[in-house]
Amino acid sequence: MSVEAPYPELDELLTLVGQAGHRLSEIDATEGAAGNISVYMGWPLDPRRRFPQTETLELPTPLPELAGKSFLVTGSGRRLREIIEDPAANLGVVVVDVGGRTGQLYTSPRRLFARLTSEFNSHLAVHRDQVALTGTNFHAVIHAQPPHLTYLSHIARYQDLKYLSRHLLRWQPELIVNLPEGIGYVPFLIPGSPELESATVQALRVHRVVVWAKHGVMARSDMSVKRASDRIEYAETAAAYEYRNLLNQEQAEGLTDEEIHSICNAFNVKQSIF
Ligand SMILES: [Zn+2]
Repeated sequence: MSVEAPYPELDELLTLVGQAGHRLSEIDATEGAAGNISVYMGWPLDPRRRFPQTETLELPTPLPELAGKSFLVTGSGRRLREIIEDPAANLGVVVVDVGGRTGQLYTSPRRLFARLTSEFNSHLAVHRDQVALTGTNFHAVIHAQPPHLTYLSHIARYQDLKYLSRHLLRWQPELIVNLPEGIGYVPFLIPGSPELESATVQALRVHRVVVWAKHGVMARSDMSVKRASDRIEYAETAAAYEYRNLLNQEQAEGLTDEEIHSICNAFNVKQSIF
């Protein structure tokens, strides 16, 4: 998928990032300053009206093929729930320089952060990989910490891709339709590390949302920022059902394989989980 011209204005994207942060906060997935959002925009953009301050930034991953392209990124330590109150103060725009080793970071005079998110390396690596694979001109990535999904990732038997998806996607018909590849799983790795970055890139090639064990999730969309946050919300709702069922001595059956097959037939969903 790609976004077609006329491309969204920067102000529209600022509002959408604010709305996604607000919704993720409503589902308790952004305690304190947890979580971060970034958006890749593959069209020419001049951010200086909203972000007149400029500085040169060394990129965590060289991106020579994305010279001239832009990223909208949350600041380190900012609260996702507060972005909506003043998006420009909580976000920066990075335009990649020729050669791809550095970028220009554009910020607002009201800027409330010293650096961009500490997960910027994983965000950039995922954007770069998806742009290379699909040629998309738009890509949104969100990290959040939804509590039920994260809790389940502490239990050994959910630390298995097939088990995790089979048990979570059985609770609502929408789940297999929205997450036909299932939910990805990345074992615990140090936040911000190169190991987490490369494992996340691999997992997001197959899945649209992946669990970072004992930490949270990362989701992506090549259609909209809110589509990425919807994916987190669907996966977290599934995990909340699963958690309730564990508390209730696993009395519920969930949708059967047969019922899920009939949903997939009706909505033309291709999947290999059930
Ligand atoms: Zn985190």
